[in-house]
Amino acid sequence: MTRDIKIHSMNLLIIDNSANSSLLLKAILKNKGFKNIYFATDVESSYVHLDKQRIDLILLSYVLSGISGTEVCKEISGNMLYEDIPIIMVTVNNDIKTLQVSFENGATDYIAKPFKGEELVARVQAHLIRKQVNDIRKTTAITDPLTNIYNRRHFDTIFEHFHARSISENKAISFFMIDIDNFKPYNDNYGHQKGDVTLIKVAKILEEQLPRTDDYVFRIGGEEFAILLYDTTVGFLLQLSGQIHEALAKENIEHKFNANFNKVSVSIGVFTSLCEHGISKFEIYDRADKALYQSKENGRSQTTFEQG
Ligand code: GH3
Ligand code: MG
Ligand code: MG
Repeated sequence: MTRDIKIHSMNLLIIDNSANSSLLLKAILKNKGFKNIYFATDVESSYVHLDKQRIDLILLSYVLSGISGTEVCKEISGNMLYEDIPIIMVTVNNDIKTLQVSFENGATDYIAKPFKGEELVARVQAHLIRKQVNDIRKTTAITDPLTNIYNRRHFDTIFEHFHARSISENKAISFFMIDIDNFKPYNDNYGHQKGDVTLIKVAKILEEQLPRTDDYVFRIGGEEFAILLYDTTVGFLLQLSGQIHEALAKENIEHKFNANFNKVSVSIGVFTSLCEHGISKFEIYDRADKALYQSKENGRSQTTFEQG
């Protein structure tokens, strides 16, 4: 039952230029408990909803004005951002050619008019259940199970994406490499379980310092974290670094074996680059790593900034 409740709050988009047809689809779906139904009549209005709402399924009319439904289908299903959204083509033709063209253009399913309400609902439900399972699987694949922040795998994906974007748009990419100080003695003295709790706390503190949706924090190793930022000023980097050290000090997690500090602290290496000289990902990583090493050398619980 809980599964049904979740499915009913998923977001559906009906793309149709006939008001009668849209209203009929809406009536059938509302009657079955679907709460979030959005409407569009063309590509532009479709994108408004796709960008604003997290659309989970599209019902797309085969015939639209000015553009064919299959063209819209091809465009949406070919867009990396929306390729996971199932598209059901709604047609008046029940011939094999229409069916073929729909699937060739990226449709997930097909329903011909006149159809029974039950059939439409059964298809919508089946695709939404699959979408939900896929969403969970995808999220799990990129999440660190201990801290619930992104994992190393997702770091690789976002790093690649930011690096390519930085080169083409000539905007800065910034990389924070963060490592907990003297964490081995922490584990040795307080126990692995307490170590895990501390890792969770540190991840949460890092996450809380990032207000922009486009900033990312990852657990990239045992007690190592990374932050990737796109198009930021050096002032912001300084401020963020300060905030991290402050927030962690305020949390005041006892660590008697972290010399001079008596509480859990981190060392940070920051490297920021405009990627003007086609700097490689490897070099960016290496420079942040070296900056981190410098922070450790200089006494820990501090940040070293590098630019290039
Ligand atoms: P430094 O200040 O130079 O970074 O010293 P350190 O002791 O933190 O560095 P080192 O790399 O020697 O130790 C890292 C320790 O992190 C080793 C291990 O005990 C601990 N660790 C790594 N992964 C986990 C984890 O998943 N859970 C717990 N509890 N501890 C972990
Ligand atoms: Mg380490
Ligand atoms: Mg460490």
